[in-house]
Amino acid sequence: MENNKILTIAGNPNVGKSTLFNKLTGLKQHTGNWAGKTVSSAKGYFKYKEQNYTIIDIPGTYSLIAQSKDEEVARDFICFEDTYKIIIVCDATSLERNLFLLLQTIEIRKNVLLCVNLLDEAKKKGIDINIKKLEEVLGVKVIGTSARRGIGINELLEEVHLEHDNEKVFCIKYEEAIENAIKIIERQFEQIDLRELNSRWISLRLLEENNSLILKIEKYLGINIEENKNIIKSIEIAKNYLKEYSIDKNNLQDKITDKIYENCNNIVNKTVSYKNKEYYKSGIKIDKILTNKITGIPIMLFLLCIIFWITIVGANYPSQALSNLFFSFENTFRKTLQFLGLPGFLVSMFTDGVYKGVAWVVSVMLPPMAIFFPLFTLLEDLGYLPRVAFNLDKIFKKCGSCGKQALTMAMGFGCNACGVTGCRIIDSPRERLIAIITNNFVPCNGRFPILISTITMFLLGSTLG
Ligand code: GDP
Repeated sequence: MENNKILTIAGNPNVGKSTLFNKLTGLKQHTGNWAGKTVSSAKGYFKYKEQNYTIIDIPGTYSLIAQSKDEEVARDFICFEDTYKIIIVCDATSLERNLFLLLQTIEIRKNVLLCVNLLDEAKKKGIDINIKKLEEVLGVKVIGTSARRGIGINELLEEVHLEHDNEKVFCIKYEEAIENAIKIIERQFEQIDLRELNSRWISLRLLEENNSLILKIEKYLGINIEENKNIIKSIEIAKNYLKEYSIDKNNLQDKITDKIYENCNNIVNKTVSYKNKEYYKSGIKIDKILTNKITGIPIMLFLLCIIFWITIVGANYPSQALSNLFFSFENTFRKTLQFLGLPGFLVSMFTDGVYKGVAWVVSVMLPPMAIFFPLFTLLEDLGYLPRVAFNLDKIFKKCGSCGKQALTMAMGFGCNACGVTGCRIIDSPRERLIAIITNNFVPCNGRFPILISTITMFLLGSTLG
């Protein structure tokens, strides 16, 4: 038995990867439902039946066609890290979209285990997934879980523990011209040790001319494709062959993607049934209202205004109570220091400076934060925040930014530091930088009182003047 086996948890953002990771390792990573929350890989350890495991929770990604840095990290991990097993976590309530990553992954890896999570949510929505059938169709082991409640974790562990590779793994059949082009290139790899990769997958990437990925494949295999005349020649022949069918690097990617989606759809048709179609439809209806051009923005403004109103007006009461409490001890504090025999200037420094300062900051800053963040978390848990980002995307795009910035700005109202660190959810480095810089102009809870007092001072000054 190997001393330590490495497991990878991969999947779309927000499918419960961190929750599963926490359940397996007993660690407490924060889980949230912002797209791409797991932005850096987390590592944890656990032991099952005397076997040690290292588990790596890689950034959430929708596909292996990496478009952002995080997706690239996830793709490279899946493609080039030799791990014992890869657990692909899927959201049972939107299996079709989630299967995309799985189908791409099983094109490269055999040691895949599918974990269909959020079964409790699926049940609520009347979605019934035939796990056995799914397993049959995909040719990989499938475990149904509700990670938050810990359901299915033991079965998952048991399956992880079993040492076997999936044999008849589902294989996507592309259109005939592409399949023939793959075969032309594939032959040239027969004599090369491809480690964990396979010639079919490499041939497709060569046809796509995905240069950054090809460089990584070369590095992984320790070969230089440019120097191998046979491979270069076969790529040329395959490309010319595809041209006869009007396929080139511009539309090949789309054709591959369409085919994978078509397969996802077919698999879902065979394995998923909707008991309560009405419930499912009502969810879609609510979603349509929340993201509709006419109703979406007013609802969003209303909800955000309510949150700010509750935060600003509601915080007055606990602020006042805290302030009364702290300042009622001021004299006692001062007298205690005097009783201890401290010189006058130290008594004044500790009482009028330190004590009053801390009391003021705590009573003014703590209540708004204690109200704002739970409310914002509530929106997060209801899954409303991605809709806000979606609704505002077009407007923000006009300023050269993206809708996700709205979330970091709203967060910035609570605390600028959180707003700035939250900018990591923005994929493009340029848009991320814009969001970070502009976040500093958002008056956060800490600055709000200072701004108000400064404005009051100036206005008061000018009125008096
Ligand atoms: P990640 O982005 O894939 O790491 O997803 P998280 O682990 O952060 O989970 C996203 C959200 O789904 C969180 O609010 C979790 O509490 C919730 N969640 C995770 N697993 C389950 C589950 O089995 N059932 C339900 N109802 N919610 C879950």
